[in-house]
Amino acid sequence: MKQFTKSFTQQESIPEAGIEAAIDVMRSGRLHRYNTLPDEKSETDLLELEFAEYQGVPYALACSSGGYALHIAMRAAGVKAGDKVLCNAFTLAPVPGAIHNSGAVPVLVDVAEDYCIDLDDLEQKAAESGAKYFMLSHMRGHLADMDRVMAICKRYGLFLIEDCAHTMGATWNGQKSGTFGDVACFSMQTYKHINSGEGGFLTTRHSDVMARAIMHSGSYMLFERHFAAPPAEVFEQIRYETPNYSGRMDNLRAAILRPQLADLDAQCERWNARYRILETIFNRSEKIHIPARPEKEGYVASSIQFSLPGFSTEQIQAVVKQCGERGVILKWFGDNVPRDYTSRYDSWKYIEAMPQLPKTEKILSTLLDMRIPLTFSEDDCQLIGEIIAEVVG
Ligand SMILES: *Cc1c(COP(=O)(O)O)cnc(C)c1O
Repeated sequence: MKQFTKSFTQQESIPEAGIEAAIDVMRSGRLHRYNTLPDEKSETDLLELEFAEYQGVPYALACSSGGYALHIAMRAAGVKAGDKVLCNAFTLAPVPGAIHNSGAVPVLVDVAEDYCIDLDDLEQKAAESGAKYFMLSHMRGHLADMDRVMAICKRYGLFLIEDCAHTMGATWNGQKSGTFGDVACFSMQTYKHINSGEGGFLTTRHSDVMARAIMHSGSYMLFERHFAAPPAEVFEQIRYETPNYSGRMDNLRAAILRPQLADLDAQCERWNARYRILETIFNRSEKIHIPARPEKEGYVASSIQFSLPGFSTEQIQAVVKQCGERGVILKWFGDNVPRDYTSRYDSWKYIEAMPQLPKTEKILSTLLDMRIPLTFSEDDCQLIGEIIAEVVG
C-alpha cells in the first residue's frame, strides 16, 4: 500500500542570504527598526520599499502579524465601534477576530461553489446591512471575479480591505491581488508565502490611511523614518489623534524576509507546478470535484481544495482518517468542531446575532483542504494525489 512519510508542516529553510543578513543584524545589536545610524535605512525600511515596489503601490508598512495589519487597517480606515463589516463566512479565525478587535461587527457572506465569496449574497447583504466596509479574504488563494467585486464596492460605496494572506504574488487579469481595494493586508507567518515566523504588511495608496496606520503600528513620533510612506505634512494632525497600538516589524525578521521576497515569483511557479500535478489526478477521479480556475486568475497554489459531492459526514471523516493513516493530512472545513487552523463560522460564538448560513454549511460539508509545502517534490505530489484518489475510491 502506498504510504507518504514527509511532514505537512515542514517549510523550506530560510535562504542563506537571509541567514547571513540576520546574523549581521544580530552582530550590529540594532534590531529595533528605528535604531539606525545617520542616513542608514534599516532592514525594515528596505523591506517596505521593496514590497511597495513589488506591489506597485506608493505605501507599505511592515508590522507584527497579518491579523494585526487587518486590525489597524480597519482603525486607520475609520471603523468605529458597532460599525458593520462585510466579510467571508469561509475564512480563517484571524479575520472575524480582527473585526472584533476594532469593535466592529462582522456581517458574514456565503461561500460559493468555486470557494470564493458568493457575489450574489455579497450584493444582497451590502444592500440590506448598510455596511460601509468590506474585508475580503482571498481565502485559500481563490480570487473572486474582481471586476464584479469592484462594481459592487462602487455601487454601495464600500471601503475594501483585501486580506491577501493566501495571495501574495497572485494576480487577477494581470493585476496584483492587493491593488484592487483601498487597503491590503498580508501575512508572513510561517505557512504563508514568505516566512519570518510572524509578520504582516499593510499597503494602500491613500496617504491619510497610511499615516494613521504608521502611527497605530507604534512609530512614536518617528514617522519621518518611514520611506514607503507619505510626506511629513500628512502626519501634522494625525499624529495627535491616532493611538499607538505597538505592533512593529523588527530588523531581524525583515532581514530574513528580503531574500524571500526576491525569490517569491519563482517560488509561486514551484507551488503551481505541484498543484497542477494534484489537480490532474483529481480531475481523473469521478468522485472528486475540483473547480476549474478562471482564465483571469493568476493563482499561487500553496494549498489545494477539493470537494467530494454527495459524501456524508461519516464518509468525509473516513476519508480524512484513512488518508491520515497513509501520511496524507487533509483538513475538513465542514467539521462542527474547530480543529487546527480550520474553524467553521458558527464556532465564532462571540459574534452576536449569528446568522444561519445553510448554503455555506452545505458547501463546507464536503470541502477538503491540503497544504502543499515546497519541501514536497513533484514526485511527492504525484504519490499524495494517488493516495487520495485510492482512498476516495
Ligand atoms: C494567516 C491568515 C491571516 C492572519 O495572519 P497572521 O499573520 O497569522 O495573523 C489572515 N487571514 C487569513 C485568511 C489567514 O490565513
